[in-house]
Amino acid sequence: MLPGFAGVDPPAAWPRPRFTPRPEALVAPTTTLPGVGPTAARRLARLGVRTVGDVLSHRPRRYERPVPERTIAELFGDDEAVIEATVRRASARRRGRLHILTAHVTDSTGEIRATWFNQPWLEAKLIPGARVRLRGRQNRYGFAVDSYDFGDSVDTADFAPVYPSTEELAQKQIRAVVEHALAFAGAAGDSLPARLRIAEQLPLRADALVALHRPRALDEAETGRRRLAFDELLTLQLALRRRAAEREVLVAEALPAPGELAARYRNALPFTLTAAQEQAIAEIDADLARTTPMQRLLQGEVGSGKTVVALYALLRAIEAGRQGALMAPTETLAEQHFLTVEGFCAELGVRIALLTSALPAREHAEVRQLIESGDIQIAVGTHALIQREVSFRHLAVAVVDEQHRFGVGQRAALAEGRSPHVLHMTATPIPRTLALTVYGDLAVSEIAMPPANRKPVVTAWVTDDRSSEAYRRLRRHLDDGRQAYVVCPLIEASETTVARAAEEEAERLRAAELAGYRVGCLHGRLRTAERRALMAAFKAAELDVLVATTVIEVGVDVPNATIMIVQAADRFGLAQLHQLRGRVGRGAEQSYCLLVSRPREELTEGAVERLDAMTQTTDGFELAERDLEIRGEGQLLGARQSGLSDLRFTRLRADRDLLEGARIAAAALPGEGLLGTAVDDLVGGAEHVGES
Ligand code: ADP
Ligand code: MG
Repeated sequence: MLPGFAGVDPPAAWPRPRFTPRPEALVAPTTTLPGVGPTAARRLARLGVRTVGDVLSHRPRRYERPVPERTIAELFGDDEAVIEATVRRASARRRGRLHILTAHVTDSTGEIRATWFNQPWLEAKLIPGARVRLRGRQNRYGFAVDSYDFGDSVDTADFAPVYPSTEELAQKQIRAVVEHALAFAGAAGDSLPARLRIAEQLPLRADALVALHRPRALDEAETGRRRLAFDELLTLQLALRRRAAEREVLVAEALPAPGELAARYRNALPFTLTAAQEQAIAEIDADLARTTPMQRLLQGEVGSGKTVVALYALLRAIEAGRQGALMAPTETLAEQHFLTVEGFCAELGVRIALLTSALPAREHAEVRQLIESGDIQIAVGTHALIQREVSFRHLAVAVVDEQHRFGVGQRAALAEGRSPHVLHMTATPIPRTLALTVYGDLAVSEIAMPPANRKPVVTAWVTDDRSSEAYRRLRRHLDDGRQAYVVCPLIEASETTVARAAEEEAERLRAAELAGYRVGCLHGRLRTAERRALMAAFKAAELDVLVATTVIEVGVDVPNATIMIVQAADRFGLAQLHQLRGRVGRGAEQSYCLLVSRPREELTEGAVERLDAMTQTTDGFELAERDLEIRGEGQLLGARQSGLSDLRFTRLRADRDLLEGARIAAAALPGEGLLGTAVDDLVGGAEHVGES
């Protein structure tokens, strides 16, 4: 660590802002920064960057490696280097779609021809006499420029940050925006007591931000990141403590031991529960027998059998004469859950209803009324809807799926001073020891082992030019009597447009790659009854292929489907791809997931990393961590928030020491006041996290 980096004794050369900005500066929109107009602001917003504060916490994915500065005479082979030179003359030409810009540049040792591709706007800047810094490598024709600076050196600098980006936003642009935002690095002040900061050997927050974005060495960047991670973890720990304190006063109804309905449910299952499922059920039973409300996290990979356990917990409420609620983050997911459990409920004589905003007002009111009177025993819907609009007669067990970690919302609902027992489910499992610290007050049940006969899904990434091969492979599965999914490209548009695009793609496939096969099309615009009929047909193998939008992400469950093609896979977030892939590999057969995209060269760095990650592992935790590293882009097209992604700077595995430090610090701090607003945001944020 640099001398004085802990902020006690800042280095003389530390690039500090020259004035202390006000805290409000951080919530100002990006358009208040020089050079950010409405278009740039919109593009930044796609990365989740809306305010100056967002810019500051836009974490670089990596840093360029340092390269030597050389004179033109010293350039050697094709080693990457930086040269400083003066423009002599420049000219531009076209070759097909390629725009080639050439400048003759000199320094005291010689002259070389520098080339840029497809950056026509630069021509006006390359006037004779202009000073430039160029980073690139020598080739047969001269010096191929990767990055350049006129005047200040940001893009050619050693350790230049490489940000999560999109195709429409160049690194150079993001770097420039960050550069301006850094003037506000000190705006939030520093809420960490100096003693704590020094004990943890952490720099001032403002210094940490500068180090993150403008490191002079990698360990400087890492030190900056750790400070920001510590803030994050401390905020988290304070929030957990506060929530735990709020809960201490809550009382739930203790449920009697499992009875006849639970037994009938077990008998109705077409399989025997795995040991892990039995264990989870035993833990839940123990929780339900107490008057302290259950707060349990059930974690397990997609398809590991959580829903089966969750329904058990709900039925335990029903047999005690109480009600259950099943909540999901989005309406589509709620509906999928409904379709999954509805069949069992019918068989067991349990009255269940789906409450969605799509219901006509009268029916909506009717369903709410039936829930209020207790006639409906299990209500399914979004977290937001159920909490806001429904009062239960006797809610005893609530299952919350994939909810934001803080969307626990125990305050709502709970008439008569009674709290329901709550079971949280997540398909982004993290190691138990970590979970205990990260989730603090939640008990954890794990379904580590999927049902025994499953094999990991084999995943391959192919480019468009080989997509015909992918379809050939898919047809082989169909000819063997298996079924398949084709996932349509994710487009950012209204549900209606998306639906139409899916219909058109299904139509195209019926005439081309999938001619002669029975192809159905599933999207969000279908009515519930239509969708149900379609799913039933697919399940009954009356359809060979389901062409679908992301609505199949969760809940669709057809073990005979053994292959999936994801079109334009580069557009999906990692979490989404992982969820999609979970639709196959549900039976004993080896399953395949084929990700199709444009050629590697045309993709953003983040997209390449995501697709590589998908082919390298099926471990959800591993993928969640990778997603964090690649972050920014992961969220691009509305990928769902999973709890883990609240942590922007933390590397859960590497930062265990920080986590421990934060836990101890939180216990010793007064809590309220310190980082107070951040804690409020986290805890109070619960109410509006529902829809994504
Ligand atoms: P999750 O909710 O974790 O994604 P589900 O509960 O939906 O997983 O289960 C996925 C699939 O595995 C479903 O088809 C379910 O019927 C099946 N399944 C669940 N538990 C078992 C088991 N013990 N043995 C065989 N199949 C199971
Ligand atoms: Mg499920």
